[in-house]
Amino acid sequence: MTFTTRFAPSPTGPLHLGHAYSAILAHDMARAANGAFLLRMEDTDLQRAKPEWDAAVVEDLTWLGLRWDGLILRQSAHLREYDRYLDRFDDMGLLYPCSCSRADIRAAVSAPQEGVSHDLYPGTCKNRPMSYRQPGDALRLHLDRALARLGDQDVVFHETGQTHSGTHQLNPARALREIGDVVLSRKGEEIIAYFLASALDDVHQKITHVVRGEDLFEFTQLQVLLLTLLELPVPIYHHHRLIRDDEGKRLAKRDDARAIAKYRADGASPEDIRRMVELA
Ligand code: GLU
Repeated sequence: MTFTTRFAPSPTGPLHLGHAYSAILAHDMARAANGAFLLRMEDTDLQRAKPEWDAAVVEDLTWLGLRWDGLILRQSAHLREYDRYLDRFDDMGLLYPCSCSRADIRAAVSAPQEGVSHDLYPGTCKNRPMSYRQPGDALRLHLDRALARLGDQDVVFHETGQTHSGTHQLNPARALREIGDVVLSRKGEEIIAYFLASALDDVHQKITHVVRGEDLFEFTQLQVLLLTLLELPVPIYHHHRLIRDDEGKRLAKRDDARAIAKYRADGASPEDIRRMVELA
């Protein structure tokens, strides 16, 4: 199978050095393997994703000297295609409608429990059947049922990134404690959860290697679980180190000081950027 990877930014702000590192690394890995490098705009958040940021991403990547294979895939152009996967989860009996607000959820989780992620859903709507679904309800994954459905089937993925290198297997008890009943779709806000859209498009684009930042490692178990339930192929993952600011914090979209456009305006060359992220 041809090595195929991608860069999948959300066009909600300027690309910074961290994005440049991720894009260059994925691009160079693909070229070294004689493989393909694809570009996907993860613009399912219709409030925050903007065409001007999309155009700026394309401009920055082109300036960096990166060329992608084929056309850019924009998730917003095929939102309805995700529905059939939600329907499949529904057919498996793995969804329930949830009308809780964030405030309800916070109130129900009275004291933060050790090892429990902050927004772990307390299960208030867990027994609501899909026929009770109201406009505006979110759809949640019934994780207990999902795990029961898998039975003894392993949920496994392979990681080639330095920090987590090796084979990882989902631990059901831990998943219940740490993942919980995640929202897969929320009408009116996001039609589809970004981690699900991303995993589905990796399959759609026949990605063999997902190259992305270590900050996304925590989503991988969940994404692999969803792909396994849908009987879809699971790619190999490569989570890379993060580019940090002088205080050691991960760069964020608000770090305009490290925006590629800023370096460009200050006269840096694409080679300078490669040197800065140690990929020269
Ligand atoms: N769209 C995500 C981001 O910009 C990346 C998702 C991925 O690479 O899997 O953070």
